[in-house]
Amino acid sequence: MAAGEEEGSAAEPEQEPAAEEQPRSFKDLGVTDVLCEACDQLGWKVPTKIQIEAIPVALQGRDIIGLAETGSGKTGAFALPILQALLETPQRLFALVLTPTRELAFQISEQFEALGSSIGVQSTVIVGGIDTMSQSLALAKKPHVIIATPGRLVDHLENTKGFNLRALKFLVMDEADRILNMDFETEVDKILKVIPRDRKTFLFSATMTKKVQKLQRAALKNPVKCAVSSKYQTVEKLQQYYIFIPSKFKDSYLVYILNELAGNSFMIFCSTCNNTQRTALLLRNLGFTAIPLHGQMSQNKRLGSLNKFKAKARSILLATDVASRGLDIPHVDVVINFDIPTHSKDYIHRVGRTARAGRSGKSITFVTQYDVELFQRIEHLIGKKLPAFPMQEEEVMMLTERVAEAQRLARMELREQGEKKRSRNDDDDTEEAIGVRNKVAGGKKKKRKAF
Ligand code: AMP
Repeated sequence: MAAGEEEGSAAEPEQEPAAEEQPRSFKDLGVTDVLCEACDQLGWKVPTKIQIEAIPVALQGRDIIGLAETGSGKTGAFALPILQALLETPQRLFALVLTPTRELAFQISEQFEALGSSIGVQSTVIVGGIDTMSQSLALAKKPHVIIATPGRLVDHLENTKGFNLRALKFLVMDEADRILNMDFETEVDKILKVIPRDRKTFLFSATMTKKVQKLQRAALKNPVKCAVSSKYQTVEKLQQYYIFIPSKFKDSYLVYILNELAGNSFMIFCSTCNNTQRTALLLRNLGFTAIPLHGQMSQNKRLGSLNKFKAKARSILLATDVASRGLDIPHVDVVINFDIPTHSKDYIHRVGRTARAGRSGKSITFVTQYDVELFQRIEHLIGKKLPAFPMQEEEVMMLTERVAEAQRLARMELREQGEKKRSRNDDDDTEEAIGVRNKVAGGKKKKRKAF
């Protein structure tokens, strides 16, 4: 057993009170009846650990730094106290949730809607890639809760007449480390300047980086730290494997594994948008129901992919790291790290897509001759030596011919798609590209006519 694990289990008994002392219901945490009913209707029978830690503290009016694993129920942990405060003192433009990705924003909005519909809560999602005019209209209606990516929100704060956040009572930063990693720091600073100092701030993050600590100084008042797991741990019900293979046979091994584990739902992580697209085309050429999700797709296509996968109309979702954090995709059975993550922390986020909420799951990491060092870093981070996934090499080799043909087709299709895209002279409207453009423009934004 690894050192990290031993430390973890040794620390547990001191932290955890006896089982009977644990609050057993949302009511025990101080959640008001109407919201307890909303939880019940969502099938949330008992609060999760982060909810047990954070909700009572939030209801006391304290600022929070929530450190929780993905899939831990952290949205509920900040949404419920906000909704309860809203019930007590109803007000428009009451809370702002900042998130790094558009998908995450929609997902958080869904939970606010689901929990708040019975009390008439209105929320609006403000993210890039979507028409600003309709967003201005939605903001003019003054929703109770805004869920936004920072760039587009700043755009509205600067250009949408009559819109301001001067009465804001709650600010949430979800996946805060990511917000900073993605060069949103300038935008976040701008937002902090135009919202009241006298507010509650909740900072939620699966990992605590130095940058988050910096942000903490800027935005929080005497916060309470609610940590479910402050170490990089992966859940117990997750069976983690690796395969050590020559780089040139990666595609064949992927096909072999998908056949071996047929009937499951898969999330496959690739390192670039291009490889995500290529691998999706390759798998489709071999008859798999695969669908890509990456930053070079339009917002509509990204949501479309995610929804098809969620609705189980597709069994394989191929994604870049844009999809590795925060997304709530409940039925992923197997995570495949087709390209090994360069940052080992991303490994935790990726495999966190499976084995959620007490269910079991598998992860398989492809390790080629070029990835050995990165893989060792991952093993070091999680404090475990992973077993090899059992395979019949001869069977893999029998696939190579068919795979080569599918690769050839995929390359052709990719070229055609690229040419079509170039001829359409499509605007790249990804959040990442916007961030880069802003940087290049020295933070200057094109003024949009006020609505
Ligand atoms: P999150 O970590 O906020 O993305 O939540 C992950 C998933 O857990 C979402 O599908 C939530 O609906 C679900 N969830 C949140 N709280 C609970 C709870 N107390 N019991 C069961 N499921 C929950």
